[in-house]
This record gives sequence, structure tokens and C-alpha cells, in this order.
Amino acid sequence: MKLLENKTAIITGASRGIGMGISKIFAAHGANVAFTYASSEAPALALEKELTALGVKAKAYKSDASQYDQAEALIAAVVSDFGAIDILINNAGVTKDNLLMRMSEEDFDAVIEINLKSVFNMTKAAQRTFLKQRSGSIVNMSSVVGVKGNAGQSNYAASKAGMIGFTKSIALELGSRNIRCNAIAPGFIETEMTDKLDEKTVQSWRDGIPLKRGGTPEDVANACVFLASDLSAYITGQVLHVDGGMLT
Ligand code: NAP
Repeated sequence: MKLLENKTAIITGASRGIGMGISKIFAAHGANVAFTYASSEAPALALEKELTALGVKAKAYKSDASQYDQAEALIAAVVSDFGAIDILINNAGVTKDNLLMRMSEEDFDAVIEINLKSVFNMTKAAQRTFLKQRSGSIVNMSSVVGVKGNAGQSNYAASKAGMIGFTKSIALELGSRNIRCNAIAPGFIETEMTDKLDEKTVQSWRDGIPLKRGGTPEDVANACVFLASDLSAYITGQVLHVDGGMLT
């Protein structure tokens, strides 16, 4: 069953990892997909081709989500190219890990701007379209780290916890207009972001997860399909954990 037919989604940070996984599964569910990247042009253009071959409309946009003006221009371009936006997936994110003692002000600010301010930028820019349509589903990619904290990731954890507060507030503000806003808190999902870690650490994490494996981008994408689709029509302001039971 195709759950996203006749819907248009915009997904930030889809040239790799989880965002790429979401784009592919959304297209397989019949969604038209507008997606962004920061610098990985070749994989983004390859993804655009792959999605288009599935029979949906798809387009890659180079856009820095941390920049307010770029987010506004992006939404205007997507509305003009696609005619509507039904779903916004705020997925773009980075890590710049360090213990507080060694964390620079630049690395703190960069992570907050790319992970958290981007969510403000994109949601504010898309809001007008959602209000006009009197419908919309926003999904913000938080993290288990935003719920629990993590030594060496105070900047990242703060950005991801901030996304949860933002999500709940927007759910309260826009619920009466049939605009829903939820967050996903992935646990350990094996992507390029986690490839930077050494194999021994990674194996010990897998062993500690009740389902005994790292997650895949598809695991997260399937949760996004649910929150983006009408199956979750009465769900807003929630944080859905996709973590193999890690926080249980
Ligand atoms: P990833 O493989 O490193 O991919 C990050 C994506 O974000 C890339 O497409 C990148 O584009 C894009 N991006 C980076 N900065 C951007 C910016 N300023 N504007 C627009 N796009 C930007 O990361 P991932 O593992 O798929 O993670 C995706 C999201 O899930 C992130 O928000 C992350 O925090 C969250 N998450 C991941 C895990 C995990 O275990 N992997 C766990 C919990 C939460 P370029 O390729 O052009 O650089």
C-alpha cells in the first residue's frame, strides 16, 4: 500500500545517510520529493535520477539549512516547482564532538545553527504554505542524545533537546490549523556520521541494544512515513524513539 500518494515532501540533508533513506522510501510510497544537500552535489543528482525513475517528481536543491534567507528561498522555489508542500522533514544535522573543556565557541555555535536554528528557519518558511492549505506534517530529526545527554556531545545534545522543545511548542501553536509536528529520536543508526567511530566502540554499542543491532536509515524512514502520512492524523507533539529499545 502506498501511503504518501499525491503528497509533496521536502527533506533536508538527503545526499547521504538517513535523509537519503527517507527520500527513497517516501518516493516508493508515491511522494514527490524535494530534497536538499550542503555540498555533496554528485550523490544528490544521482538520487534525483533514482527517485525520478520511480515515477515521482523529485528535485535536489543546494541549500544551507542554517541560513534563514536560503531556507526562505528554498521554500519559495519548492512551492513554485511542485505546487504544494505537505510534509517537512527537518533532517540535516552535523556533529562536532568534544569534551566541554576542549570545545570551541565556533563548534558550539555551528552545531546549534545547523541542527537547531535550521529547524526554526525551515518551519517558519514552510508555515505560510501549511496555513494556506490548512494541513501539514512536520517531522524533526532529534536523537536519543537529546533525551538522555552524552558526554562529549554537549553541543549536539543541546541542539537535539532544543528540537524537542521546539517540536512540542509548534504542535501547540499550529494544532488548531491541522498542522502536526512530531520528533523522531533515533538511537544508533549506522551511517557515515557513525562510520567515524572505531569498530570496537560500535560493536559494544550494538551489544548493549535490546534488539542487538544498529539501526538502518530504512528503520528511521519507516517511522517518518508513519508520522508524515494520514495514518498518524491524531498524533502531534510526540517524540518517537527509533532505537532498538536503547532507552528502555
Ligand atoms: P550524515 O550521514 O552525516 O548526513 C548528513 C546530511 O545532512 C547530509 O546530506 C549533509 O549534506 C546534510 N547537511 C549537513 N549540513 C547541512 C546544512 N547546513 N544544510 C543542509 N544540509 C546539511 O548524517 P545522518 O547520520 O544521516 O544523520 C541525519 C540526521 O539524523 C541528523 O540530524 C542526525 O543528527 C540525526 N541522527 C543520526 C543518528 C545516527 O546514529 N546516525 C542518530 C540520531 C540522530 P552534504 O552531504 O552535502 O554534506
